[in-house]
Amino acid sequence: MKRYAMLIGGKWVDSVSGDVRELRDPANGDVVGVVPEGGREDARAAIHAAREAFDRGPWRKTSALERGKLLLKLADAITRKAETLSHVEVHGCGKPLAEAQFDVADAANCFEFYGGLATKIHGETMAVPANSLSYVVREPIGVCGQIIPWNYPLLMAAWKLAPALAAGNTCVLKPSEMTPMTALELGELMLEVGFPEGVVNIVTGPGAGCGEEIAESHLVDKIAFTGGTVTGRKIATAAAGNLKKITLELGGKNPNIVFADADFEAAVDGALFGAFANQGEVCSAGSRLLVERSIHDRIVEAMVAKIPRVKLGHGLEPGTKMGPLISAGHRDKVESYVRIGLEEGAKLACGGKRPADPALANGHFLEPTIFVGVKPSMRIAREEIFGPVLSVIPFDSEEEAIAIANDTEYGLAAAVWSRSLARAHRVIRELRAGITWVNTYHPTFNELPWGGYKQSGTGRELGLYGIEQYLETKQVNINLDEAPLGWY
Ligand code: NDP
Repeated sequence: MKRYAMLIGGKWVDSVSGDVRELRDPANGDVVGVVPEGGREDARAAIHAAREAFDRGPWRKTSALERGKLLLKLADAITRKAETLSHVEVHGCGKPLAEAQFDVADAANCFEFYGGLATKIHGETMAVPANSLSYVVREPIGVCGQIIPWNYPLLMAAWKLAPALAAGNTCVLKPSEMTPMTALELGELMLEVGFPEGVVNIVTGPGAGCGEEIAESHLVDKIAFTGGTVTGRKIATAAAGNLKKITLELGGKNPNIVFADADFEAAVDGALFGAFANQGEVCSAGSRLLVERSIHDRIVEAMVAKIPRVKLGHGLEPGTKMGPLISAGHRDKVESYVRIGLEEGAKLACGGKRPADPALANGHFLEPTIFVGVKPSMRIAREEIFGPVLSVIPFDSEEEAIAIANDTEYGLAAAVWSRSLARAHRVIRELRAGITWVNTYHPTFNELPWGGYKQSGTGRELGLYGIEQYLETKQVNINLDEAPLGWY
């Protein structure tokens, strides 16, 4: 059990109040770490450190090549420490080890991608009248406040920090109060590889107070947030005080559409993985399975038959395919949707309850749950549940599938399963979502833009699009005509 501190101005510090928070393994309730419980004052100290490092520190004068090299060194350091990081991640948020290992590798890849990109940020010259030389330069925005959730603690830290630092910004990162350990481990690696003091500051504490200070502060130039839509709206409102630049990656109620001409086995696997990977605690989870009516019963039967393979357990237990939900409160919320679904008239094809195994009694486990008889108007088909609950909805035509898929306030992800290339392209073109797949579900790549349409957010993370969100654009006009203007 490790006692952590916060990283502010290059130093490891406790909270001003001296308060701490015990972190518990969601699979068994064991205390797995202790972190400072930061508040507004701690957030202010972190913001000042980031401001100082940006305005007067060495970071802005550090060449793109040096910044890139530091990011590459960090990627190597993450890879070297992958085993520890993935174990800490499992204890912190409950996911199965194989998923945590994937996240750690992907986090390293993210720093590597942006390490390489740091030297490729460039401006351009414009063809303007001959008496001017006009060009555009790209500059960092300044101090970036970055608020991240509990479902991918290390990966979300990487998605936020890597592009921001490659672009030359300084950062104040606030992990979720429930899962701060791997972000702090990352902070240790950052100091180890030589990031200057104040460039990255990591404060631990709740959204109320600590997070609010970051969102409201006029010393913060940009805010990047991943989390729930309700919180995203609050952050956007708080950020409006000084019109911060803003990127929001919010929720989804993502349609996974299976046509009768799809490869059946592949679609069954994709439907289960789309819904139940990471316990369904995924913004892009395929939580609405839209199935062509002619194969509806067969697909439900095939999914239910495979459910025993979704073995619940501690993430470090060999064979575990699904861990616990993040907290007792969150499981209560997910269970409330099981009740809502039944009250609305949907039927449980499987799950809907806590596992009977006494070995799991101290964890926040819930069986993988599949609802059938779901109508698109039901709350379980409209609201983000963020747990292992899949709503299956039949459709009769391509047009109807598209209409149901788009009938949502969200627009994060969507998938289509079909052997017809023309149909797959046709349907994808109609779907109002930022991340789409054909005959697969969930693969993500650091090279591609991640983000949503409609109320799933604003802006894009990752890839070249992601670094754009951390850059200002300045035009420079040089008068080549030395004679006075003579206007007056
Ligand atoms: P939140 O969206 O509330 O939390 C995400 C981050 O925001 C955390 O670091 C949190 O801090 C912080 N935060 C919360 N309130 C504020 C605030 N007013 N100002 C600044 N920062 C704030 O997630 P919840 O845990 O409450 O989950 C609620 C729902 O959100 C879930 O059920 C799910 O539907 C959705 N969600 C979506 C995610 C996604 O990836 N799109 C991820 C997580 C949740 P702290 O936790 O420390 O209090």
